[in-house]
Amino acid sequence: MVRVAVVDRELCKPDKCSLECIRFCPINRTGGKAIELGEDGKPVVYEDVCIGCGICVKKCPFNALSIVNLPDELEKMLIHRYGPNAFKLYGLPAPRQGAILGVIGKNGTGKTTALRILAGELKPNLGIFDREPSWDEIIKRFRGTEIQAYLQRLAEGKIRAAHKIQYVDLVPRRVKGTVGKLLERADQRGVSKEIAKFLGLDRLWDRDVRRLSGGELQKFLVAAVLSRDADIYLFDEPSSYLDVRERIKVARAIRRFAPKNAYVVVVEHDIAMLDYLSDYVVVMYGEPGVYGIASKPYGVRVGVNNFLKGYLPAENVRIRSEPIRFHVREAPATVTAGREKYLEWGELLVKRDGFVLRAEPGELQKGEVVGVLGPNGIGKTTFVRVLAGELEPQEGYVYKPREELKVSYKPQYVSPAMFEGKTVEQVLREANPAALAPGSWLYTELVRRLGLHRLLDRRADSLSGGEMQKLAVAAALAREADIYLLDEPSAYLDVEERLTVARAIRRIVETRGVAALVVEHDVAVQDYISDRVMVFTGTPGKEGHAHRPMGLREGMNMFLKELGITFRRDPETGRPRVNKEDSYLDRLQKRLGEYYYI
Ligand code: ADP
Ligand code: ADP
Ligand code: SF4
Repeated sequence: MVRVAVVDRELCKPDKCSLECIRFCPINRTGGKAIELGEDGKPVVYEDVCIGCGICVKKCPFNALSIVNLPDELEKMLIHRYGPNAFKLYGLPAPRQGAILGVIGKNGTGKTTALRILAGELKPNLGIFDREPSWDEIIKRFRGTEIQAYLQRLAEGKIRAAHKIQYVDLVPRRVKGTVGKLLERADQRGVSKEIAKFLGLDRLWDRDVRRLSGGELQKFLVAAVLSRDADIYLFDEPSSYLDVRERIKVARAIRRFAPKNAYVVVVEHDIAMLDYLSDYVVVMYGEPGVYGIASKPYGVRVGVNNFLKGYLPAENVRIRSEPIRFHVREAPATVTAGREKYLEWGELLVKRDGFVLRAEPGELQKGEVVGVLGPNGIGKTTFVRVLAGELEPQEGYVYKPREELKVSYKPQYVSPAMFEGKTVEQVLREANPAALAPGSWLYTELVRRLGLHRLLDRRADSLSGGEMQKLAVAAALAREADIYLLDEPSAYLDVEERLTVARAIRRIVETRGVAALVVEHDVAVQDYISDRVMVFTGTPGKEGHAHRPMGLREGMNMFLKELGITFRRDPETGRPRVNKEDSYLDRLQKRLGEYYYI
């Protein structure tokens, strides 16, 4: 076995502890030296001396140390390490010419690192720090593997990359100009106009990029990247900020406009989108922040299924202790007789600055999840805020049959002001002390799985946007309420965390018999959690129409019909899969009017 010791530079605070890791190490105590303070005042673990007992890991008050043992033969696949006691990446997802490679896996397992290596932005070091390994050495290490030919071309400088970065919000700070001017400048293939039109960006041609919404920025960047003349096109999370229609559109744009013989790699957490877009997939697994391994390539259906099942047969490794299965829920088409209503609303009219929302009367019943689906700017958030009592409707009412029913609300946008100087620990404790009790399911199944246990002493208002979202979702779910209103709980979450949150929602609703209303663009998550759905239609930014909650089948049918896409269910895992446009099933289901399975 090989020892991998990682010191998280951010979490480690040697001036705030008493160097327990160094003092309690059994090797150090018996005269050896497995761990000591390095030049920067933070501990260095000598992996060849350390026996991997894990005492330092347990003693560290900040969870800054990780020690794992990995099989020797894995070292042959080591492609990059950020430094001594830093993250290790094993293998690379191997792109294939003329095909789209989907990469799936939790965050912190090296997906971005892999993309940067493939793009030629980061030269891998094979874990060697005292000199720069030559390309010959790098290629030699991967001789006989699928990635060899690609590395060869990279070494010869024959790979030109176009890379859509993950954080689209950073762009307006880096570039200046209008959508049209910038797209024209990026255009090396004479296709930018056509792509812009396809993505609906033509309407925004003269708009300053600083005035684009998150979803518009995302589409703008996808268009810019596709307009470049490159050998490899890399898309890091192209679905963030987009609604379902836009996700499908972006997927189709990538398929249609990437040059036929190019390499294309997409990292994506929305499994329905990844599945629809990719020809084959690589699963990234490992321990976040410690090490990551790229799996062998799998066919897209099998790969996503293996990921959900939590087992990779070619590698013979288990990546999750329990499989994730989607259930076909035979939900009631409408209100169930005798079921208690937890929240009711009459016909609503809500006006906001030129936008009008009309809602059909409806109700949220005890023991159900109502999913909310619809495009961006159609009034979903407005509606949830009315239910939460934050906005007053101009007409209509919202009624709680019992005044004591408590509401827990996770707004769409989470701001630092929500947490006013509290630590992560305080926020969770105030939500529910059980969220911090080791052994409680809230702690093991929610807080730990979202990685919040590592951040307990951090100030909540200093967290990154993604971390803050996770905290807000965890706190909202931990609160003991009767009605849960969750506005986009999976935004910023990786695929594994989305499934964690989906499972937690089902568990709370089923065991405590509460009610939940969840706005969500990830169709697989929506399918997993919802008993009924509410569909929003209309003209984004102008007027929205909220239909009454309907049975999953009826509601999804209405929603998908508007989008012109059909779904089938995967027989093995039960997950929803988008039918390829114009395939046999797509045509058959459209003819039958059954957009959501037959
Ligand atoms: P993913 O895209 O799967 O979230 P990344 O490739 O971004 O993963 O990062 C994997 C790990 O590598 C991160 O957890 C981080 O701790 C570490 N890492 C990333 N960049 C650096 C860096 N420049 N120096 C040291 N560690 C880094
Ligand atoms: P969704 O959640 O479906 O994306 P929203 O409810 O956020 O939609 O927005 C619906 C419409 O209401 C949008 O056109 C938006 O511009 C408008 N709107 C949202 N918030 C405000 C506000 N604070 N003041 C005025 N108009 C708003
Ligand atoms: Fe020392 Fe054990 Fe930590 Fe290794 S794992 S550095 S031997 S305390």
